[in-house]
Amino acid sequence: MSGLDSFLFDIPARLRFGCGVMDEIQKASLPGSRLMIVTGGKTIRANGTVDRLVKMVERKAETIVIFDEVRANPTLASVMKGAAIARENQIDCVIGLGGGSALDTAKGIAAMAVNEGSLWDYTASGSGSGKSMAHKPLPLIAIPTTAGTGSEGNKTAVITDTERNEKIGVRTDFVHSAYIDPELTLSIPPQHTAEQGFDAFCHCLEAFLSVKANPFSDMMAAAGMKALYRWLPAAVENGSDIEARYWVSYGSMLGGMVLYLSSASAAHTLEHMLSGLNPAVSHGGGLAMIFDAFHAKLAENVPQRYAQAAEAMGIAEGASETEIAEHLLSDFHQWKSRLGLDRLRLRDYGFTPDQAEEMVRMTHWVGGGPLTRDRYRFSDDDLAEILRKALEV
Ligand SMILES: [Zn+2]
Repeated sequence: MSGLDSFLFDIPARLRFGCGVMDEIQKASLPGSRLMIVTGGKTIRANGTVDRLVKMVERKAETIVIFDEVRANPTLASVMKGAAIARENQIDCVIGLGGGSALDTAKGIAAMAVNEGSLWDYTASGSGSGKSMAHKPLPLIAIPTTAGTGSEGNKTAVITDTERNEKIGVRTDFVHSAYIDPELTLSIPPQHTAEQGFDAFCHCLEAFLSVKANPFSDMMAAAGMKALYRWLPAAVENGSDIEARYWVSYGSMLGGMVLYLSSASAAHTLEHMLSGLNPAVSHGGGLAMIFDAFHAKLAENVPQRYAQAAEAMGIAEGASETEIAEHLLSDFHQWKSRLGLDRLRLRDYGFTPDQAEEMVRMTHWVGGGPLTRDRYRFSDDDLAEILRKALEV
């Protein structure tokens, strides 16, 4: 960042945000009439949200197929199965209803319903072959029912190939429009609220810290960090606090978008490696488990940027940049404890310190831009040290 940075704001989605906006789908003109609803199933079905959506769109639909096989850390197999069903039924519009996993699966299905081969052909990460898609994905309407990934406002689908233990992001123009309704998040249990909101906070913080940051992304990142820092504990403590849910959804939406004005950091690549190796690690949980070790190392090298983050959040305390940075990280640690995320331990997921070098190798294999977009270039020894420290806790 030179201070006079250029940037590209390229989020090709119409985002509608606010309490009750899901109802507007009834009146909206849809970009197709042969619909596939992609969802995680159980909870959303049980609380009636899938039925509610079907009722809202059925008069306009020629056909509605429900694909409800999405699971956490969505898989390539599930995307390819959904895409085959979409082809068979000549689907022309995909609706993703659920958390980041449902939206990312829906993105993958929308792309693979009209393109040949495997989704892995269209990513340059991991063992992907980096081809360009011959056809634009089917139009996708995203309806998030969680607040965390911000997937509705960005171009990436994060998918895991369980056979190769690779979790990677595939990027293209996926989302046609999104309805972000904080009321849909009221029933999320506290642990998930905390983990998902923590992910959103990391999107904002990492985008602020990145070399790709610019005045526009700083504005968005600061607003997202402030909203989540203030309101996420309230949403965890009382799930039916609609004011807290509103601001957490807002922070999540900003986090999804700001990644595309700036970038995530190496922390996200490390996390994708962890949950790629062990899908029982949730994305937000994985980020929480490496958070202290990662940011201690980065702040040691670029304290000034952490001091600026503290100022942007209005919580700067200390006489020097180093002191302000240390204070900020200690505040973040307490905040993480208040969210209940300090209870998560990397070693409880089967990882051991002697695997650190192998995990660094896997991190490079997962690859992607975020590994090179921090203001300090992490060496392999640094990454191994971060993982060992995270495993010591
Ligand atoms: Zn994330």
